[in-house]
Amino acid sequence: MSCGEPHETDCSEVLDHLYEFLDHEMPDSDCTKFEVHFEECSPCLEKYGLEQAVKKLVKRCCGQDDVPSDLRSKVMGRIDLIRSGQAVPEQDLTAAESEQPTAAKE
Ligand SMILES: [Zn+2]
Ligand SMILES: [Zn+2]
Repeated sequence: MSCGEPHETDCSEVLDHLYEFLDHEMPDSDCTKFEVHFEECSPCLEKYGLEQAVKKLVKRCCGQDDVPSDLRSKVMGRIDLIRSGQAVPEQDLTAAESEQPTAAKE
Protein backbone atom coordinates (compact mmCIF):
# COMPACT_ATOMS: atom_id res chain seq x y z
CA MET A 1 0.00 0.00 0.00
CA SER A 2 1.28 3.41 -0.84
CA CYS A 3 -0.02 6.95 -1.01
CA GLY A 4 0.28 6.88 -4.77
CA GLU A 5 3.14 9.35 -4.83
CA PRO A 6 6.43 8.33 -6.37
CA HIS A 7 9.18 8.07 -3.77
CA GLU A 8 12.90 7.64 -3.98
CA THR A 9 12.59 4.88 -1.42
CA ASP A 10 9.81 2.42 -1.99
CA CYS A 11 7.04 2.24 0.61
CA SER A 12 7.42 -1.52 0.91
CA GLU A 13 11.12 -1.11 1.59
CA VAL A 14 10.40 1.41 4.31
CA LEU A 15 7.79 -0.79 5.96
CA ASP A 16 9.98 -3.88 5.69
CA HIS A 17 12.74 -2.16 7.62
CA LEU A 18 10.63 -0.14 10.02
CA TYR A 19 11.97 -1.92 13.08
CA GLU A 20 15.55 -1.52 12.00
CA PHE A 21 14.91 2.16 11.59
CA LEU A 22 13.28 2.40 15.01
CA ASP A 23 16.15 0.49 16.58
CA HIS A 24 18.75 2.52 14.71
CA GLU A 25 20.12 -0.69 13.30
CA MET A 26 20.74 0.74 9.88
CA PRO A 27 23.39 3.00 8.35
CA ASP A 28 22.88 6.73 8.73
CA SER A 29 22.42 7.07 4.98
CA ASP A 30 19.45 4.70 5.13
CA CYS A 31 18.01 6.50 8.15
CA THR A 32 18.11 9.72 6.19
CA LYS A 33 16.31 8.11 3.27
CA PHE A 34 13.63 6.87 5.63
CA GLU A 35 13.24 10.26 7.28
CA VAL A 36 12.82 11.85 3.88
CA HIS A 37 10.24 9.23 3.02
CA PHE A 38 8.24 9.82 6.20
CA GLU A 39 8.12 13.51 5.41
CA GLU A 40 6.70 12.78 1.98
CA CYS A 41 4.51 9.84 2.74
CA SER A 42 1.76 10.12 5.32
CA PRO A 43 0.62 6.46 5.17
CA CYS A 44 4.12 5.35 6.10
CA LEU A 45 4.43 8.08 8.70
CA GLU A 46 1.24 6.82 10.33
CA LYS A 47 2.62 3.32 10.58
CA TYR A 48 5.92 4.61 11.83
CA GLY A 49 4.16 6.61 14.51
CA LEU A 50 2.21 3.55 15.55
CA GLU A 51 5.31 1.41 15.87
CA GLN A 52 7.06 4.15 17.76
CA ALA A 53 4.16 4.39 20.20
CA VAL A 54 4.28 0.65 20.77
CA LYS A 55 7.99 0.70 21.42
CA LYS A 56 7.58 3.48 23.98
CA LEU A 57 4.77 1.58 25.58
CA VAL A 58 6.82 -1.59 25.82
CA LYS A 59 9.76 0.27 27.26
CA ARG A 60 7.57 1.85 29.89
CA CYS A 61 5.65 -1.27 30.85
CA CYS A 62 8.28 -3.97 30.55
CA GLY A 63 11.48 -1.98 30.87
CA GLN A 64 12.84 -3.69 27.82
CA ASP A 65 13.90 -2.62 24.41
CA ASP A 66 12.54 -5.40 22.29
CA VAL A 67 8.92 -5.51 21.28
CA PRO A 68 7.61 -8.95 22.22
CA SER A 69 6.66 -10.86 19.11
CA ASP A 70 3.06 -11.28 20.23
CA LEU A 71 2.69 -7.56 20.72
CA ARG A 72 4.38 -6.98 17.43
CA SER A 73 1.93 -9.24 15.65
CA LYS A 74 -0.91 -7.52 17.47
CA VAL A 75 0.33 -4.23 16.10
CA MET A 76 0.74 -5.67 12.65
CA GLY A 77 -2.86 -6.84 12.82
CA ARG A 78 -3.87 -3.35 13.83
CA ILE A 79 -1.93 -1.92 10.92
CA ASP A 80 -3.86 -4.25 8.64
CA LEU A 81 -7.08 -2.89 10.13
CA ILE A 82 -5.92 0.64 9.53
CA ARG A 83 -4.96 -0.25 5.99
CA SER A 84 -8.38 -1.64 5.30
CA GLY A 85 -10.02 1.35 6.94
CA GLN A 86 -11.56 -0.53 9.87
CA ALA A 87 -9.62 1.27 12.55
CA VAL A 88 -8.13 4.69 12.99
CA PRO A 89 -4.47 5.17 13.93
CA GLU A 90 -5.43 7.52 16.73
CA GLN A 91 -7.03 4.66 18.60
CA ASP A 92 -5.53 4.36 22.05
CA LEU A 93 -2.86 1.70 22.04
CA THR A 94 -2.58 1.88 25.80
CA ALA A 95 -6.15 0.69 26.15
CA ALA A 96 -5.57 -2.10 23.68
CA GLU A 97 -2.58 -3.25 25.66
CA SER A 98 -4.19 -3.27 29.09
CA GLU A 99 -7.09 -5.48 28.14
CA GLN A 100 -7.47 -8.48 25.92
CA PRO A 101 -8.59 -7.41 22.49
CA THR A 102 -12.04 -8.65 21.67
CA ALA A 103 -12.49 -10.67 18.55
CA ALA A 104 -12.73 -8.50 15.49
CA LYS A 105 -16.26 -7.45 14.76
CA GLU A 106 -17.21 -8.54 11.34
ZN1 LIG B 1 5.51 5.32 2.00
ZN1 LIG C 1 3.93 7.21 -0.25
